[in-house]
Amino acid sequence: MNKPKVVVLGAGYGGLITVNRLSKLVGVNDADITLVNKNDYHYETTWLHEASAGTLHHDKCRYQIKEVISSRVNFVQDTVTAIKPEEKKIVLEKGELDYDYLVVSLGSQPETFGIQGLKEYAFGITNINAARQLREHIELQFATYQTEEVKQDDRLTIVVGGAGFTGIEFLGELSNRVPKLCREYDIDPKKVRIICVEAAPTALPGFDPELVEYAVNHLERKGVEFKIGTAIKECTEDGIVVAKDDHMEEIKAGTVVWAAGVRGNSVVEEAGFENMRGRVKVTPDLLAPGHKDVFIIGDCSLIINEEINRPYPPTAQIAMQQGETCAKNLSVLIKGQGEMEGFKADIKGTVASLGEDDAVGTVFGKKLVGTKASFMKKMIDNRALYMVGGPGMVMKKGKFKFF
Ligand code: FAD
Ligand code: NAD
Repeated sequence: MNKPKVVVLGAGYGGLITVNRLSKLVGVNDADITLVNKNDYHYETTWLHEASAGTLHHDKCRYQIKEVISSRVNFVQDTVTAIKPEEKKIVLEKGELDYDYLVVSLGSQPETFGIQGLKEYAFGITNINAARQLREHIELQFATYQTEEVKQDDRLTIVVGGAGFTGIEFLGELSNRVPKLCREYDIDPKKVRIICVEAAPTALPGFDPELVEYAVNHLERKGVEFKIGTAIKECTEDGIVVAKDDHMEEIKAGTVVWAAGVRGNSVVEEAGFENMRGRVKVTPDLLAPGHKDVFIIGDCSLIINEEINRPYPPTAQIAMQQGETCAKNLSVLIKGQGEMEGFKADIKGTVASLGEDDAVGTVFGKKLVGTKASFMKKMIDNRALYMVGGPGMVMKKGKFKFF
């Protein structure tokens, strides 16, 4: 019998853990493993707020995929354009692939909720290209300001849409970067405005209120203005339109950053799997309902936290744990031995950075703030490097500047 072909789509946290664990669990004669990714590098999505603000070079956030996968894995650098589950086929920009078992781990895309102008005028914190573009755009605004005869102060206003974890972490980096940009471009810091617009009645909705207060106070001290309970309604070339209760307001800004939520990859929606905003509610063994050969993990999957009967927020923590379970379940199917295991998320905590030297979080049920939390965040970042690339990758890309 021919060896089964396993195809893994996406070399993010979920996809890389899956191929690395699977290549240890099944022998070369048991299965062919192919990994498809649009770039030849993996990026740490969880560090993109730093690259976007310009506080960490984007090359520190990425590494070559071939450095961390086994030589037995066939790596294909290409973009997935369609999944055809009925034909067991993947359509790529430059070709096609057949599979016996498929793992979809293509991550997320920004959710713009149909708000006018966001796609055209707002920047996102989504990948290395977007991060580079945003960092350069902000810097160009500072440089351009000094060349103008009639100074446009609005050019130096930066609006961040959403005070979820992405928005808050980006604000932490940005509020550290702006004073440096002001010095570099001889600009009075008072001319710069950083405004965060959040639709919910609080920043970091659902997070511990004491930690939210710490984060907001910390960022306000660094000059961030919060507009809470205020929704972005439109984005234009000149800024945004917001609404609080019945009151509409226009905020002029040189930079608008949309960090107000994500949805699963559109390829998943278009493949015909039943989904909610691109996320498929998978079975306990991580299969797409009705498909015995398609696993969906990471941000493309939706799993329910039974304790509160609500979906878990999509995180790298869960994507990596799903990668482990997915590899075990694939090996059961390939070998035809044993039983697939049900996925159980093991949430160790959540830490949000507030710039390089401060953070807030809960770890193993304990609340942490300040340098302790910041130290923990760097440990979590290093752990992700270790899980995928081992100690060598931690030495190469790890974060060791603690205080
Ligand atoms: P990803 O890691 O995003 O990987 C998807 C891969 O698929 C990428 O390599 C991409 O290039 C590739 N791809 C996409 N489309 C295609 C295509 N059509 N063809 C080929 N390849 C494709 N979570 C935490 O747990 N802790 C944190 O501290 C944390 N911080 C975050 C900070 C930021 C700024 C952001 C944006 C998110 C953060 N998250 C964090 C969430 C976390 O990053 C995601 O949940 C996680 O990356 C999901 O992993 P994944 O494997 O599903 O997708
Ligand atoms: P999110 O959905 O968690 O937060 C988006 C925020 O935008 C919400 O607070 C929402 O109320 C707000 N919003 C939505 N529409 C708006 C509008 N029109 N105007 C103003 N505000 C609006 O999204 P995220 O922050 O991008 O996070 C995505 C996922 O990544 C989450 O699961 C999160 O937990 C995870 N993440 C984790 C970390 C961490 O653990 N340190 C960091 C970043 C992201």
